[in-house]
Amino acid sequence: MRDENCLFCKIISGEIPSTKVYEDDYVFAFRDINPQAPTHVLVVPKAHIACVDAIDGENSVYVAKSFEAIAKIAKAEGLDTGYRVINNCGEDGGQTVMHLHFHLIGGVKLSEKIV
Ligand code: 5GP
Ligand code: ZN
Repeated sequence: MRDENCLFCKIISGEIPSTKVYEDDYVFAFRDINPQAPTHVLVVPKAHIACVDAIDGENSVYVAKSFEAIAKIAKAEGLDTGYRVINNCGEDGGQTVMHLHFHLIGGVKLSEKIV
């Protein structure tokens, strides 16, 4: 469930402070320290799942709950005209923190698209 050396596990436990925007039994969400848009929230499952590769039938409820949380947070942040959800997976995907997370980005018309 928890990795003692993991930055996001420490943020979830409160050992490292963050600006929390949402929490439930499955999900913790907080503002990115280096925001790329007016709203940039990291939505993080409370189980230590390293990346998309590690999602399986045992833990996928955390992924579903993360997306339920994303919808709630987007409404609370007033992102009525849209937003983007990004996941970076592994080295080539640019993942820097090896605890699964979804970037919720919005509050501005987003231009850079790769798909
Ligand atoms: P990744 O590159 O793994 O997809 O995303 C990691 C994100 O975590 C980055 O956007 C980075 O700015 C953010 N981040 C790294 N360290 C911290 C921290 O200590 N606090 C917060 N709030 N965000 C962090
Ligand atoms: Zn972790």
